[in-house]
Amino acid sequence: MGELTDLTLAGALDGLADKSFSCRELTDAFIAEIELSNDALNAYVLTTPDKAREMADASDQRRANGTAGRLEGAPLGIKDLYCTAGVRTTACSQILGEFTPSYESTVTANLWSEGAVMLGKLNMDEFAMGSSNETSRFGPPSNPWRRQGSNQDLTAGGSSGGSAVAVAANLCLAATASDTGGSIRQPASFTGTVGIKPTYGRASRYGMVAFASSLDQAGPIAKTVEDAALLTEIMCSHDPRDSTSLPVETPPWRGAVNEGVKGLRIGIPREYRIDGMSSEIEALWQQGIDWLQAQGAEIVDVSLPHTKYALPAYYIVAPAEASSNLARYDGMRYGARVDGEGLVGTYEMTRAEGFGAEVQRRLMIGTYVLSSGYYDAYYLRAQKVRSRILEDFNTVFGTVDALLTPTCPSAAFAYGEKSGDPIEMYLNDIFTVTANLAGLPSLSVPAALDQQGLPLGLQVIGKALDEASCFRVGGALERAAGFAGRPTRWW
Ligand code: GLN
Repeated sequence: MGELTDLTLAGALDGLADKSFSCRELTDAFIAEIELSNDALNAYVLTTPDKAREMADASDQRRANGTAGRLEGAPLGIKDLYCTAGVRTTACSQILGEFTPSYESTVTANLWSEGAVMLGKLNMDEFAMGSSNETSRFGPPSNPWRRQGSNQDLTAGGSSGGSAVAVAANLCLAATASDTGGSIRQPASFTGTVGIKPTYGRASRYGMVAFASSLDQAGPIAKTVEDAALLTEIMCSHDPRDSTSLPVETPPWRGAVNEGVKGLRIGIPREYRIDGMSSEIEALWQQGIDWLQAQGAEIVDVSLPHTKYALPAYYIVAPAEASSNLARYDGMRYGARVDGEGLVGTYEMTRAEGFGAEVQRRLMIGTYVLSSGYYDAYYLRAQKVRSRILEDFNTVFGTVDALLTPTCPSAAFAYGEKSGDPIEMYLNDIFTVTANLAGLPSLSVPAALDQQGLPLGLQVIGKALDEASCFRVGGALERAAGFAGRPTRWW
């Protein structure tokens, strides 16, 4: 056996079950790897080694007693927007200061109750707003992947950049992440990892720091499609504490990964063939189509005519909801406070100092599009566009089982390359926001390396509540791609 930290989640669970190693040994291996690597990679913004060892010992006990859970002994990383009882949670924003929740998010509680172990909290864009993780109060993480022959530091994407780095660099078996407009899938695509955003309402938002409540959804970043399926099964649950949580059973998805795609109808939406699309991305997409066809899927050309309005609609709806959600950070109840003159002065100082530039930009846009006189022209219109986008999907899902597209318009880019121009940064989300606007499950799977040696992902979008097809198609693509790429260690 190689390094314990190289294992997949499924492989580690097998090793724990057959007593090849203990959870304590596995956890210690990850703690050592994090100590060695995190200064260079900045994936974790807080490590919890003592808690991890304590949880690991308790896990070994449960296994010895015959009461092992479904994730018994699996050391995981947690995105810093999940509230973790007694462990600092900041969404990587100054405004949350040293906020330490007294309660646990439902998603993380589900993981612990199945025996998982927490290694620490993972880096992200401030309040999950961004596509490069450059807006974190703790500075960005570094993508373990670099262009061939280059020392340039690349972004791991965002907002779940820390989760993607930690998985790609073996600093955890798998990680939690969240996706409002692509924040699971884009970092997965940039790091050669697998990520899935389940159907809106599958996972509870209780205890997740809110960005845009009608779009936010929890999901995992993992090394393989099977690992992603395993984790999604546990993260999702009906939760009466989230009014948008769907009262549905979470089916077992692990089996779907190996079911194959014979007989499935896969739609190729022509509007995703955007102007100026690089020939590499186009070739990757065609490769994906060929792989699925070779395995017995039927390929169908489909149209989603309102796709071009998705990005502008997203960048109205998401900031609007953010401006309302983030109104709670006023320095009065929790988090950081900067005193100013009088009550209003303190509000102003706290928010001016506590929020970074990108968050402030979103709050201003959001407040503007919700203000009287502009509400109809912007917010209401964006909501109507959103309905049209959903109708487009409903129409094509009358004839196909899933859709295949590239995850992103490019491979990982360098720091500073897009951060000077917000529009340029927002354009990175062009293929991912549609699934959030329509609430659909969507998975990214690594499919190839580009000419510079960087990973590229393919995206599978499924019908509402049909994560199973995403895992089926994802598994088929994974097998065909045989993607075994690992970043060359420079850190
Ligand atoms: N990049 C998108 C944004 O900045 C999506 C972020 C996310 O999914 N949390 O809004």
